[in-house]
Amino acid sequence: MTYFIDVLLPIPIKQTFTYQVNEAEANFLQIGMRVSVPFGKRKLYAAIVVGIHNDDPEIYEAKEIDCILDEHPLVLESQLALWNWMSAYYMCTLGDMLKAALPSALLLEGETVLVKNKDVEVDVSTLKDDEFLVYEALQFSSSLKIQELVKILGKKTVLPVAYSLLDKKIITLEEYVVEKYTPKLQKWVKLHSSITPEKLPQVLEELSNAPKQREVLLHYFTLSGKKEKISSKEVLGLAKATTASLNSLVKKEILVVFEEQIDRINYAENQTSTSNELNEHQKIAYGSLQMAFETKNVCLLHGVTSSGKTEIYSKFIKTSLDKNKQVLFLLPEIALTTQLIERLKVVFGAYLVVYHSRFSANERVEAWHRVLASKGKPLLVVGVRSALFLPFQELDFIVIDEEHEQTYKQFDPAPRYHARDAAIVLAHSFKAKVLLGSATPSVETYANAQSGKYGLVTLIKRHKNILMPDIELVDLQKKYNKRLMKGHFSDRLLEEIQESLDAKEQVILFQNRRGFSSIQSCNTCGYVPQCTQCDVSLTYHKHTKKLRCHYCGYQIAEQLACRACGSTQLTTKGLGTEQVEEELKGLFPKHVVSRMDQDTTRGKYGHQKIITKFEAQEIDILVGTQMLAKGLDFKRVNLVGVMNADGLLNFPDYRAHERTYQLLSQVAGRSGRSEKRGKVIIQSFNPLHQILQQVSVNDYSSMWKDQMNERKQYQYPPFCKLIKLTLRHRDFNKTNEAADWLAKALRNSFQKNVFGPEFPAVSRVRNQYNKNILLKIPPGQSVAKTKSYLLKLLKTFESIKNYSGVRVIVNVDAA
Ligand code: ADP
Ligand code: ZN
Ligand code: ZN
Repeated sequence: MTYFIDVLLPIPIKQTFTYQVNEAEANFLQIGMRVSVPFGKRKLYAAIVVGIHNDDPEIYEAKEIDCILDEHPLVLESQLALWNWMSAYYMCTLGDMLKAALPSALLLEGETVLVKNKDVEVDVSTLKDDEFLVYEALQFSSSLKIQELVKILGKKTVLPVAYSLLDKKIITLEEYVVEKYTPKLQKWVKLHSSITPEKLPQVLEELSNAPKQREVLLHYFTLSGKKEKISSKEVLGLAKATTASLNSLVKKEILVVFEEQIDRINYAENQTSTSNELNEHQKIAYGSLQMAFETKNVCLLHGVTSSGKTEIYSKFIKTSLDKNKQVLFLLPEIALTTQLIERLKVVFGAYLVVYHSRFSANERVEAWHRVLASKGKPLLVVGVRSALFLPFQELDFIVIDEEHEQTYKQFDPAPRYHARDAAIVLAHSFKAKVLLGSATPSVETYANAQSGKYGLVTLIKRHKNILMPDIELVDLQKKYNKRLMKGHFSDRLLEEIQESLDAKEQVILFQNRRGFSSIQSCNTCGYVPQCTQCDVSLTYHKHTKKLRCHYCGYQIAEQLACRACGSTQLTTKGLGTEQVEEELKGLFPKHVVSRMDQDTTRGKYGHQKIITKFEAQEIDILVGTQMLAKGLDFKRVNLVGVMNADGLLNFPDYRAHERTYQLLSQVAGRSGRSEKRGKVIIQSFNPLHQILQQVSVNDYSSMWKDQMNERKQYQYPPFCKLIKLTLRHRDFNKTNEAADWLAKALRNSFQKNVFGPEFPAVSRVRNQYNKNILLKIPPGQSVAKTKSYLLKLLKTFESIKNYSGVRVIVNVDAA
């Protein structure tokens, strides 16, 4: 009997591959374990076992595996089921799923190694200098890593040398799999087994001539009364001693030092309190939700900003944890995690696992193992969208906070999934309940709630019955005409800022563009510096004196004279956060102004630093982009200013109005959260715009009705499904022709439901042209059939020689 396994490889191919194993291996292996397998030319990959059987693949000869990497399954069958669903629904490969779901450190990568070819006689005189250096090094060691070549040759471009040696058959290249995850070890101390209580007085006596060592030992005893395990660092710290003292004690066989693995992320902070008692409105909402969950699997909690949605989530979380079950709490952005985790930590600390995009590879692996090991124990995972890929086993409840957020949808790379929708599917497989929360639900979710597909509970009162903020629209055109502007600030906004500062309160100002201004342009000839790789103007960053492309990161020094005509008469146009910050510093020189945007929050703790400072009131006015607009809870902010609302409304997107409503309501919601009614000033050239009017009176339901009418009329979700196809290539004509071909082929079957091809607003990015085709799937047309037809068509497309190299990016449910 021969044995085979099917494995999933972390490469974007459609099928699984079959390898041969022996009987013992087949008996040992389980679905979800990793094996290292050869694939392609001398490459080793970590792959996941997805099938074990006796069927020879026949069309190719199954290779043998290299080795088995796990003792227990690392990936669960429930996860494989989710990956299968997602790859079918979002039209991506299982390899894409594997790469997205598994922490990269678990997907060992091959490391290239040069090995001396013993069978070849080398004529040293034919070697170039670089080649000789490598050859010489190989006389002393049998193999060399690529990194070592870098050292030997003193340069980074070592691959050409390696390849020419390969050509001359002097070396062979091999790939070694290396386990990337390195557990963090901690040194602990304990008493040597020969030391019994009776011997102690004598030991201490003998140490009287070594006072430091005696100190260490005494502190060890003090600690051992309090703790199970004592780290060497702690003892030495208390005794103010060095490792030399410890080493002596070890030598004298009094203490023993041993190493043990610890988690990098410190989970130990146990909870210090229970959750808050719900207020009267929250109690009613909580009760209604409990009732709704009797018949619905998904419920929407539509609660205004600062109504205490988090408190209600906490009640449901506690119920599940009390049953020793698992809970997943999804958040749209890392900026939000800081405050929320602080809040959840005090209540659920011991059970909390955090998972977000700025975690290191090792931290992700630890989180994975912790979730895997938590079966039968309470577990609360808080994280951004990829947290839904963790190995849950007893998932009971999912919270999706700020469910309307677009960042739940992954754009790049594949899988281009929507975490909210995928989480609902995940919950279904566990029969778990899902609670969606938002002050401004997405149009689709609210439609599902209205139709009765989801339960709906509304919370219209802020905690402590504080009124919703008073929103004032300021007409910029009038203010400019009447000369009531100072820089980009209207008199009204300045008055309100002054009042807040006088009252020792804090202010948030929102401008949705980073940088100083959108462009630097020449007054004489009108020239605007452009990115060399993308079709966009460069953004002016005054602080760093740079012009930067926000699409590809390309940057040049700021212009002192026009590159086209040499004129020094340069101006800047378009307002960015840097400029708001600079103007404020001029207007309020005695106050601390700070900025929170992508440029000031780099690094793992970038957000946290600014948020903590603002909470500690070390900052009076905080200027920022949308990252500070959402979900954050600051007690002393009673004024929020929106510098310019118009940029948001003019976005070429069917969701622009919905998004403007959501964003402005969220920003406004940061004001007046703890004591008194807050104030919001929105500056705009279009104060009569319907959306701004609706924001100003907090009229979600009119906004929703308007949007539903528009979408019905123009056929957009939820009245149809959208698949966006983006064709991408370096060559403009090729991109165009390919897009025309594909659109025509699609029209043959889907007629008027095919739109485009059309260039997006920025058509060239990183020297690649993009062209979009939109396919609408009306109700009544089978989504599955449409997708399978589309896949066939794409296969035909791929086989057309003229279009080879043109990538087609498929985005299902594209926003
Ligand atoms: P939302 O998420 O709906 O915007 P939060 O959950 O952040 O609202 O609550 C707003 C503020 O009110 C927070 O500071 C929170 O601690 C406080 N809060 C809400 N409900 C309660 C409660 N029942 N007891 C004590 N504090 C509460
Ligand atoms: Zn010029
Ligand atoms: Zn660019």
